[in-house]
Amino acid sequence: MAFKIYNTLGRKLEEFVPVVSTSSTSGAHVGFYGCGPTVYNFAHIGNLRAYLTHDTLVRSLRRRGYQVTHVMNITDVGHLTGDNDEGEDKMVKAAGERHKSVLEIAAFYTEAFFKDTERLNIKWPDIVCKATEHIDEMIALIKRIEANGYTYSAGGNLYFDTAKFDHYWELSGRNNINDEETVSRTGLDANKKHPADFVLWFTKSKFIGQDGEGQALVWDSPWGTGYPGWHIECSAMSMKYLGEQFDIHAGGIDHVAIHHSNEIAQSEAATGKHPWVKYWVHNEFLVLDKGKMSKSAGGFLTLQTLIDKGFDPLDYRYLVLGAHYRSQLQFSWEALEGARASRLSLLDKIKSHAEARRRGGGATQSNSDPASPRLRVSSFDEALDDDLNTPRALAALWAAVKEGDLDAVYDMDTVLGLGLKEAVEAADNQVEVDPVFAAEIEGLIAERSAAKKAKDWAKADSIRAAIKAKGVVLTDNKDGSSSWSAGSF
Ligand code: AMP
Ligand code: ZN
Repeated sequence: MAFKIYNTLGRKLEEFVPVVSTSSTSGAHVGFYGCGPTVYNFAHIGNLRAYLTHDTLVRSLRRRGYQVTHVMNITDVGHLTGDNDEGEDKMVKAAGERHKSVLEIAAFYTEAFFKDTERLNIKWPDIVCKATEHIDEMIALIKRIEANGYTYSAGGNLYFDTAKFDHYWELSGRNNINDEETVSRTGLDANKKHPADFVLWFTKSKFIGQDGEGQALVWDSPWGTGYPGWHIECSAMSMKYLGEQFDIHAGGIDHVAIHHSNEIAQSEAATGKHPWVKYWVHNEFLVLDKGKMSKSAGGFLTLQTLIDKGFDPLDYRYLVLGAHYRSQLQFSWEALEGARASRLSLLDKIKSHAEARRRGGGATQSNSDPASPRLRVSSFDEALDDDLNTPRALAALWAAVKEGDLDAVYDMDTVLGLGLKEAVEAADNQVEVDPVFAAEIEGLIAERSAAKKAKDWAKADSIRAAIKAKGVVLTDNKDGSSSWSAGSF
């Protein structure tokens, strides 16, 4: 069975065939670009759902034998508080509020972001690229767009003229000027000839005076000293690393109508090649009972909030895997409790099968039946092939666990990323832990809980890192205690 994925471009489930296809999937190259974070604040758990989706998709493609190059950008300039060019640069705003430089803010939240993704077992992208380090590429791309006649200048800014790009509405499926979404863009910027037009290069905005005053980072360009619009970075960086046409572009559903439509328009206007990206994959939102979670509105949940409440980051990974990426996922503490209970019960069962295997030749009933392990693994693969159906993949994992087929379980976990083998190995090794080492770790845990009580989070974090560096897996329990296991280094 072929790998099928829902393509927002065309709105249907499609068989995945790479842009450069070969007769076998093995070794075929796939270029994957996922919009990365704007690093002006911590990622919230909704954002992290997007990165978990990217990770699962990339892992699934690799399991199928594709050589995937995963590119992720870091937005550290140009993303205004409104996605549609209105408001203030999010980075500049955060820097002002916290009395830090934009680059300090960016460095701090980039590190925090990757700490979160690591705790969630999200694999590092092959290429992580910062907007501020690719200004030359953006300027070069804007020059091509301009040379092809798709731009106009107004009020000091350079705009993309969407009326000149005849399939601007192809991705969003909206082509009506009276559409609510389009109307909502009207009147925000009097320079625009059409509400959907967008800025390629700013020299002036509400918060930028002459010569860029008010904007922390500015660059010289053929259109004046200023800074790039938000959308151009993704076009410039994805094409630099993946070529002028590539396979998959992913992001949250909120990016379809503006950010990704704009990316397509400017990329194809520059290169004249259609389609720029073959498959567009969008994850639905994680929502709270109160509605949308918003980074800029504040009051959102971070991974650290979950950890402080005693959850393991992998409880959240399990929760996300339990919902299909194209369904809205309603977050609640009860749902997270449920995910934790399932994950712990899964681990218990796997550990006891592993123990049985160690004690007595191990093979379970089903392992002696050569047909059934293959069937189980194939139902897992069929689930992933069917538009990344992770709830069904989890069911296949449970079936393998119930049968005690540990080889299948560990094999499936290369995609699910629940750290199952590592957890079992850690439990195995704990039995033989040297008492002096155990006393040292217990001492560090006590120091860490004292630091947490004193709200000295930096110290608590550094002790956690020191414990991890010793090859110890630390789990914070709900009652405030911590348990640990050694040997997963
Ligand atoms: P941002 O850092 O705001 O650019 O967002 C990073 C990624 O998270 C983007 O792909 C967004 O589409 C996605 N995203 C934002 N909010 C949510 C949410 N509540 N649930 C799922 N994905 C989200
Ligand atoms: Zn993007």
